[in-house]
Amino acid sequence: VWVLISIVPIEYDGAPSMLTTVVDITERKTMEDALRKAATTDVLTGIANRRHFMDRAEAELARARRSERPLALALVDIDYFKQYNDFYGHVRGDQCLTDVAQTLSLALDGPRDLVARFGGEEFVVLLPDTDATVAHNVAERCQRLIQKQAIAHAHSPFDQRLTVSIGVGTTIPCDGMEPFAFIDAVDRQLYVAKDKGRNRIETVQVE
Ligand code: GH3
Ligand code: MG
Ligand code: MG
Repeated sequence: VWVLISIVPIEYDGAPSMLTTVVDITERKTMEDALRKAATTDVLTGIANRRHFMDRAEAELARARRSERPLALALVDIDYFKQYNDFYGHVRGDQCLTDVAQTLSLALDGPRDLVARFGGEEFVVLLPDTDATVAHNVAERCQRLIQKQAIAHAHSPFDQRLTVSIGVGTTIPCDGMEPFAFIDAVDRQLYVAKDKGRNRIETVQVE
């Protein structure tokens, strides 16, 4: 039970005293929590949404700058997802996005690690305090877990299974580095992975 207690000094029978009121605000707190959760969660997949990711990315970038610790980011994009939708339909497509989101959540283990839906069929993984080697391992784990899930994709050239391409970037941010600049650099790696044939990981160190 959440209560709001207010204490006001008063005069009672000519002597200084206190008036204490206690109000049950449990309902209000529950509503506030629900609103906060709704504002930070992706409706379809139940993981964090882009807005929550951007807030966290900004905070973690500032923290990494202060502590001079590395920060890593991975952008995960499903391969040939348009064909998946065209062949299996949007409802199965939506289910697939939810499955991939849950699988990616399993690949993380750091206390401040975050996976979010970045948009459409693209996910983002934020890895505070993580160097290039560990970030690459996490990306490999994401890829492996999705491979293990063995989601059928009739139009995929990779054993007719759903695959992802991943761009990974690591930085020890300098003063003034904007989240967008970092995300942009990682996004370019994702495109390199797509260009080189998909179902692969490309990594960059961002200065
Ligand atoms: P690539 O291998 O280059 O990534 O190709 P792709 O087909 O995955 O990428 P493209 O950007 O051409 O298509 C993305 C598709 O993702 C298009 C759209 O139908 C689908 N998509 C985006 N958001 C949703 C969603 O919320 N639900 C479903 N079912 N499909 C979505
Ligand atoms: Mg795609
Ligand atoms: Mg995409």
